[in-house]
Amino acid sequence: MINHLITQKNWQTQLSEAITSVDELLSILELESLKARIYLPAYFELRVPRAFVAKMTIGDSDDPLLKQVLPDQQEQITVTGYVNDPLDENAHNPVKGLLHKYQSRVLLTITGACAIHCRYCFRQHFDYSANMPTASAQADIIDYITAHPEINEVILSGGDPLNVTNRRLFAWFDTLDAIPQLTTIRLHTRLPVVIPARLDDALLDRMAQSRCHIVMVIHCNHANEIDTLTLEYLQRARVAGITLLNQTVLLKGINDSVASQVALSQRLFAAGVLPYYLHILDKVAGAAHFDSDERSAIELYWRLLSELPGYLVPKLVRELPNRPFKVPIDIYNGV
Ligand SMILES: *Cc1c(COP(=O)(O)O)cnc(C)c1O
Ligand code: SF4
Repeated sequence: MINHLITQKNWQTQLSEAITSVDELLSILELESLKARIYLPAYFELRVPRAFVAKMTIGDSDDPLLKQVLPDQQEQITVTGYVNDPLDENAHNPVKGLLHKYQSRVLLTITGACAIHCRYCFRQHFDYSANMPTASAQADIIDYITAHPEINEVILSGGDPLNVTNRRLFAWFDTLDAIPQLTTIRLHTRLPVVIPARLDDALLDRMAQSRCHIVMVIHCNHANEIDTLTLEYLQRARVAGITLLNQTVLLKGINDSVASQVALSQRLFAAGVLPYYLHILDKVAGAAHFDSDERSAIELYWRLLSELPGYLVPKLVRELPNRPFKVPIDIYNGV
């Protein structure tokens, strides 16, 4: 029932009506008893849109979607090796708002805001306000790209790039479409999963008209995140000619079972999305309790290789500072 009421609203309304109160969230889910184990850091508050909450199961404290967003006391635990900037991104930041770490593509953080706050996020300590492209930085970004002819792809990221208005987003598309060396514009976004209505007609039309190929890499961790409505919107994006891929973070107790990963790949495929990356968690402070050890990840991966067709097996990778690509995990290690 909640589902029906919420998803009728336009995406901006859904965005502004996201739940930010622990009490309200637990009351909707009839899980008031969990209050005792909540810890809420001031730098990363609770945020979860109602359309995402509607995919959770009432009364289930182990719900795999709830566990991704519910602040937990374990975030306070300091664990050696888990740091604020695990990828040392500051080292690859030649222009405000632009990361150039991999040869042929650059990543632009066009907003610091996200529709949802994922507790395992590696950017939860990131100072976006100090690294947002201003109007003048936009010119610097264009200059940087033109001065580096090896760049052929721009990744719009954040935060969540679909968190900005169509007007601002289309201005970026216009700017990038006008740079001849670019062949591809990519978006890294969780919004199609969190507020599916974000994929509105105007956005799909504009992307369909782009000179560049449009690749949308969504971020979905569990099959339950793709309900019927989400599936329909994703299928429409595919009809609009957008290449759809998914990245997942391997999360202990949430999606680290064979059954969960197989169901996710199959559900993604039903929605027209191919699995791209399965990330080993970045070692960010406050998220150690989500990390599954590499040996278990490798064991899980062997099972996925045997149970799924090759095109539904994501690449198992870890991101490391100062490596020119996401590093494939050596699945023969210790076998
Ligand atoms: C992940 C990432 C990319 C894209 O890498 P692909 O392997 O092409 O998906 C580009 N730049 C940065 C900084 C990244 O973190
Ligand atoms: S949507 Fe992505 S960037 Fe935003 S909080 Fe979640 S993991 Fe972090």
